[in-house]
Amino acid sequence: MVIKQKLVFRFPPAVVEQPIIYRLVKDFDLMVNILRAEINPKKEGRLMLELSGSESGYRAAIDWLCKEGLQVMNLKQQIFWNEERCTQCGACSVICPSGALGLKRPEMTVHFEEDKCIVCELCLRACPARAMETLIEDNG
Ligand code: SF4
Ligand code: SF4
Repeated sequence: MVIKQKLVFRFPPAVVEQPIIYRLVKDFDLMVNILRAEINPKKEGRLMLELSGSESGYRAAIDWLCKEGLQVMNLKQQIFWNEERCTQCGACSVICPSGALGLKRPEMTVHFEEDKCIVCELCLRACPARAMETLIEDNG
């Protein structure tokens, strides 16, 4: 069975220098799509990845990452559109690079397609009504 999953990894300074992506590809035969990568001034890192591959490879990779000291979270519902707060101003649909947020025509109402979201968080800053929210789930 093939798995495709967006995840966020937080890792301590000791792990920042390690070739995590290389190991995921070589040792676990996964395809890795880097959505975002950040290192803060304290040298702690945050990687947002989309991993795809066999279920066994995926599970083994997650086990290995946890043993290496990385915190793993599911990104599935990280970006959430609060429809009740939305004033339909359309600002997010202009800025969204992936087309996850768009305008339905001819009604000109905003719609959100979670599957297309690459979690860039631009809409969080652009939304005057704070109708775009983040929600990070534990991987369990
Ligand atoms: S996080 Fe980025 S890709 Fe996702 S809906 Fe917001 S602007 Fe679009
Ligand atoms: S920017 Fe915010 S208020 Fe405006 S359409 Fe998008 S979600 Fe709604």
